Amino acid sequence: MDIKGISRDKQQVIEEIIKIKNEKRAVILAHYYTLPEIQDICDYLGDSLGLSQQAASTDSPLIVFCGVNFMAETASIISPDKKVIVPDNTAGCSLAESITGSDLLEWKRENPTGVVVSYVNTTADVKAYTDICCTSANALRVIESIPAGKKILFVPDKNLGEYIRYKSGREMEIWPGSCCVHQRFTSRLVLDLAAKYPKADILIHPESSCSADPQIHNMSRAWFYSTSGMINHVQNSKSDQFVIVTEKEIIHRMKQICPSKEYISVDVPCRQMKKSTLEKLLSALRSETPGIKVEAGLREMAYPSIERMLRL
Ligand code: SF4
Repeated sequence: MDIKGISRDKQQVIEEIIKIKNEKRAVILAHYYTLPEIQDICDYLGDSLGLSQQAASTDSPLIVFCGVNFMAETASIISPDKKVIVPDNTAGCSLAESITGSDLLEWKRENPTGVVVSYVNTTADVKAYTDICCTSANALRVIESIPAGKKILFVPDKNLGEYIRYKSGREMEIWPGSCCVHQRFTSRLVLDLAAKYPKADILIHPESSCSADPQIHNMSRAWFYSTSGMINHVQNSKSDQFVIVTEKEIIHRMKQICPSKEYISVDVPCRQMKKSTLEKLLSALRSETPGIKVEAGLREMAYPSIERMLRL
């Protein structure tokens, strides 16, 4: 594989990664927010839902997950017989860390009739007390699958929760967690960008803090999407210019798919996603560490919430 603009040293690292990956029949899964060179060498690039589906369907004995820890944990829950490793096991997520399993248990005790819907950006401990998981791609579908009149407890993202409440009209109790990246995408920022780029389509991730602002929803050029939804929109839109309101690295993929279009991003990187480097990926493949393994008891408790989502 020859990647344009990559140094000779890096090229050697890439060749070694591919050689070991093939020898070990490993599969490399990567999120759209990882570094461009990781996106270019992975076997599957996707959003949380797509990556979960890949983890469920792969027949590789070794999954290398380039993303953050909760994603690798989800892969371990879905595929308990596979070995799951990560380039860097310190890659956390401010959103996943905004609630613990005991916080959720306590909240459930206070609301014993509530159905718990957890965004997939949660730890295995939280999934263990969850009725059904969702991602930004399927959150509305998941909420609509819950019988009307049932109380819903939504964790952990307040912005995604408020977005779903706005779109579905469902009453929900929402945990006050947020992503440190998307929290910075305010209504003011989006309105200023829309004024600066009057012909651009504005694509916004529902984790953003403007996600339930009617002023933004009423803009004819604004759409709310998961990361994969944004990529589909770019491919299908007649527009030549896009303002991308999510982590900026997704633009790498958009430029590959539609190179002649123009993309305007906001420079707020998710530093945790950048911890997966080529060198760490190579080291992980060689040593098959660090591993991420959800122990059997916890896995049994957490799996049904993911399985219900995947079945929808
Ligand atoms: S972008 Fe936000 S939600 Fe996604 S991994 Fe980074 S901190 Fe977590």
